[in-house]
Amino acid sequence: MNAEIIAVGSELLLGQIANTNAQFLSQELANMGIDVYFHTVVGDNSVRLQAAIEIAEDRADFIIFTGGLGPTKDDLTKETISHHLGKNLIMDEYALTSIAQFFQKTNRVMTDNNRKQALVLEDSSVLRNDHGMAPGMLFEGPSKMYLLLPGPPKELIPMFLTYGKPMLLDKLRTNEKIISRVLRFFGIGESMLETQIEDLIDQQSNPTIAPLAADGEVTLRLTAKAETLEKAKNVIDDTEAKILARVGEYFYGYDDTTLIKELFHLLKAKKWTIACAESLTGGLFQEELTSLPGASNHLKGGIICYTNEVKERILRVRKETLENEGAVSEPCAAQLAENVAHLLDTDIGISFTGVAGPGELEGKPAGTVFVGISMKNAPTIVKRLSLAGSREANRMRTVKYGCYYLINRIKEITESSI
Ligand code: ATP
Repeated sequence: MNAEIIAVGSELLLGQIANTNAQFLSQELANMGIDVYFHTVVGDNSVRLQAAIEIAEDRADFIIFTGGLGPTKDDLTKETISHHLGKNLIMDEYALTSIAQFFQKTNRVMTDNNRKQALVLEDSSVLRNDHGMAPGMLFEGPSKMYLLLPGPPKELIPMFLTYGKPMLLDKLRTNEKIISRVLRFFGIGESMLETQIEDLIDQQSNPTIAPLAADGEVTLRLTAKAETLEKAKNVIDDTEAKILARVGEYFYGYDDTTLIKELFHLLKAKKWTIACAESLTGGLFQEELTSLPGASNHLKGGIICYTNEVKERILRVRKETLENEGAVSEPCAAQLAENVAHLLDTDIGISFTGVAGPGELEGKPAGTVFVGISMKNAPTIVKRLSLAGSREANRMRTVKYGCYYLINRIKEITESSI
């Protein structure tokens, strides 16, 4: 089955809101093994919506509409579809009672146009709206299927998950099982990763391999179909092993994990404590770490050492280092990491010093960053980065690199001590 999503609403065309409904639905449909080939956006205009429906019917088996189910005159999705399919709109008593109760409860007068929201296509399956008024509906025509959902995401998302998805899964029910797994990579660009596994992508059929790049990370979504879950899992395991044999050094986790969560799991497993000296990141690393419950068991604290004075006076960076090499330098990062670990008596010290931008500093271009990692019983390491983003992106990226380097360093040291 392949699908097209038609989002109805002039505010989408005017750029006042983004089409997050299509994004949500596409992700859900992909996970269900339904291919989405087109997203269409059309304004609140019956003639143009009718034209969009005709185009969609030529190229999709399943058409999903979002928006335009409300009470006002410009909400015309179901009226247009009713006319197009030659199906009447009939009153859904359950929806009408819920709408009336809502007005009673909130002590408001129910105007006549609100009754319009309880009208549904005859012969359709009605999807209850537990978070708003207009119900959704699923209509199966002779050759196409139509799903109508309300516009507000806070209504559409629960309606789809609670009622729409189970109905669709029921219709799709075959003996085939579908599972997906997301592999997450850091430290490698999308084009480099794709080049390394180009042949696997070219040959892909089962599982499919879908790359995506965002926020300096690359993910690969593997989706497999088989008669049993076990077989589908084996198919994914095989492809994953082939991928990791080539780019495994950049792999850091599965599905919706993040770098900071992975680092946190490692700290937990090792029962290690950490302290941070943050210059250009100004506390961002600690902000990330403290967003995870239980952080206080591992993060003892940190120092935002934004000025050279604090680097020297509190964190004891040598005067000669600051004078000769500068604050944005390898020795400064090393001393910051070692001294903050010493000062706060932790297993690990991590430091971030660099030029966030947009201008240069100490004659070093924006994006020059040093990350220092000091660990008990191991030599201190310093990694140099040359980032090319905005000030904000450079700071965020620095934190991600810090997590990534520290994860690798912990693994390296643990493995070498076995
Ligand atoms: P209502 O009863 O609230 O009028 P509706 O089903 O008629 O619901 P619309 O009037 O089209 O939906 O949109 C209502 C609101 O829902 C929009 O103002 C917008 O905030 C949100 N919305 C609509 N379509 C989308 C979309 N495709 N993606 C994200 N948000 C949307």
